[in-house]
Amino acid sequence: MKAVVIHAAKDLRVEEREAETPGPGQVDVAIEAGGICGSDLHYYNHGGFGTVRVREPMILGHEVAGTIKALGQGVSHLAVGDRVAVSPSRPCNECEYCLLGEQNHCLNMRFYGSAMPMPHIQGAFRQRLVAEAWQCHKVADGVSINEAAMAEPFAVTLHGVNRAGALLGKRVLVTGCGPIGALAIIAARAHGAREVVATDVMETVLKKALEIGADRVINVAETPEQLSAYSSNKGYFDVQFEASGNGQAVRSGLEVLKPRSVLVQLGLGGDVSIPQNMVVAKEIEMKGTFRFHKEFGLAVDLINQRRVDLKPLLTGTYPIEDAVAAFESAGDRAKSMKVQLAF
Ligand SMILES: [Zn+2]
Ligand SMILES: [Zn+2]
Repeated sequence: MKAVVIHAAKDLRVEEREAETPGPGQVDVAIEAGGICGSDLHYYNHGGFGTVRVREPMILGHEVAGTIKALGQGVSHLAVGDRVAVSPSRPCNECEYCLLGEQNHCLNMRFYGSAMPMPHIQGAFRQRLVAEAWQCHKVADGVSINEAAMAEPFAVTLHGVNRAGALLGKRVLVTGCGPIGALAIIAARAHGAREVVATDVMETVLKKALEIGADRVINVAETPEQLSAYSSNKGYFDVQFEASGNGQAVRSGLEVLKPRSVLVQLGLGGDVSIPQNMVVAKEIEMKGTFRFHKEFGLAVDLINQRRVDLKPLLTGTYPIEDAVAAFESAGDRAKSMKVQLAF
């Protein structure tokens, strides 16, 4: 089978790998769609992020869906031919965090396509993937495999919503409208947000943000005063989902957030300076959010039941042979939202 392997920055190869056979409790999935994520792009463009570096060849990818081709022993709730979205979250279920129900903080997490541990955790951009049956969530008839493969980034934003707390009736600001910001808009809408205002610096993504459910969009490169107008009377928004990783987005968010509001940081930016006095004086809660676990099943359910429509986020699909072109296209924010590979 073919797999998409990162060797170093800008050194991405399509290579042959030995297919595996499913053991007890496992299934063999023919992968059909795989979304390229910001983390995959970091490995491709920079060879890693933060202190994490690719130190050995690693199959990329963790946003995948496909069709079951074989069942291991004892698998009863799935059948050959079922289409499934595969959760890349593989906690140990034994460490102290797993036992607390905080599997996203598992000490022995084997999340697909991660160079954090050594040996690296191989990813899911491959033609055949042997997965645990419990990772696989059935995709309803009529739902495209491409949309199913977006369950993973959607689950990231659903976890962000869980971190924010109840959104019913809340005014929400989303800063940064790439795939995660866009999905945060959809997630906030699905959870009863009263109003969603979204910001970015690029017209194309702002147009998309309007199309998928933002009430208003602001180009903060061209008209930042439209955002700062919300700062009167100590602010306007109850919740901010910060998906840009940009320090300025945090600072201007703090200005327009109301007292006792919540800022959920989804984007990874590095070292950012923030006006501490504003956090203190407005009693703002700043919350991080990292991956997901149980939200993956919810993401698939919402997609299956047509409670959300993620299709507008799909920019294009490339055959696995054109993986390099796909990664180049995915990295071009002006043209691409979510780019997927076909296997
Ligand atoms: Zn992802
Ligand atoms: Zn664990």
